[in-house]
Amino acid sequence: MDESQPILQMTGIVKTFYVRNRLQRVPVRALDDVDVVLRRGKVLGIIGESGSGKSTLANIIMGLETPDAGTMLFDGAAVDLHAKRSSQRALRAIQVVFQDPYSSLNPRMRVKALLREPLRHERFDRSQDFVQRCVSLLEMVGLPASALEKYPHQFSGGQRQRIAIARALAMNPKVLVCDEAVSALDVSIQAQILALLIDLKERLGLSIVFIAHGLNAVERISDDVVVMNLGKVVEHGPAGVVLQNPATDYTKKLVEISRDIVPFTLVPGEGGVPPRTEVLAAISEAVRVVPASRRTWRRKKW
Ligand code: ADP
Ligand code: MG
Repeated sequence: MDESQPILQMTGIVKTFYVRNRLQRVPVRALDDVDVVLRRGKVLGIIGESGSGKSTLANIIMGLETPDAGTMLFDGAAVDLHAKRSSQRALRAIQVVFQDPYSSLNPRMRVKALLREPLRHERFDRSQDFVQRCVSLLEMVGLPASALEKYPHQFSGGQRQRIAIARALAMNPKVLVCDEAVSALDVSIQAQILALLIDLKERLGLSIVFIAHGLNAVERISDDVVVMNLGKVVEHGPAGVVLQNPATDYTKKLVEISRDIVPFTLVPGEGGVPPRTEVLAAISEAVRVVPASRRTWRRKKW
């Protein structure tokens, strides 16, 4: 195996959705000829405001959406993006962690059962091996063995996200896709989950696609960064270069806006909270990069 070969390579990905307005079905180009490379054992951050196509790309990587065009190479081999992924190796090797563990973890199942689900294809099931495997998965994400008998609601948001990560790890993935996985967490908890992901990357040699609309988390964790706007990649390169020295106005705005706003939300005591109008003005200024005609069709999510 060639270690320098990327673990994941998406080329020329196109995806159009059709959205109904009052009169007709209007095409929305969610992804427009997108090329993305995830290096082996590295973290690729994907940033861009809401509606820029980040989740659509993640869904295509995971086989949850089918693109109109484009190719995917996983570990050097072509993945058929139109075939049912269940028949393919890539399904198990690419696992996902979403923003809201409440919707991805069945509230009626104990952690033991939640971890059993992905392991049911393995021979461990119900045996001693199975319990040991669960305990080691929990240990990997920093939870005690006693967590096995508990239900999701008995944990904090950060702990629930750890369970979601353990569940993803149960499949021994090579790639972890985190779609806004820390976006709903408090900043201090966010930092702990980021530290966990960095640890897993190093210990397990995981490669990670880390999607977030907030730049701070992406900056902490990413080796490389992709910046997306309206379904197109506007920048792709080493994190330090893209975020410290952006080449496009769009990235400059994104960086500016996050630097402006985040300190206020982080430390409301210091210097006071800015008037709401000031924050909104900063946001609308940043959003002005987007042509108004395209903006109308984007769902607002954050
Ligand atoms: P992001 O994750 O960056 O916020 P998305 O990938 O969710 O962006 O969305 C990209 C664009 O595609 C948006 O305009 C969104 O409204 C549209 N879109 C995404 N999923 C669907 C869908 N299932 N049906 C129609 N439009 C969609
Ligand atoms: Mg999204």
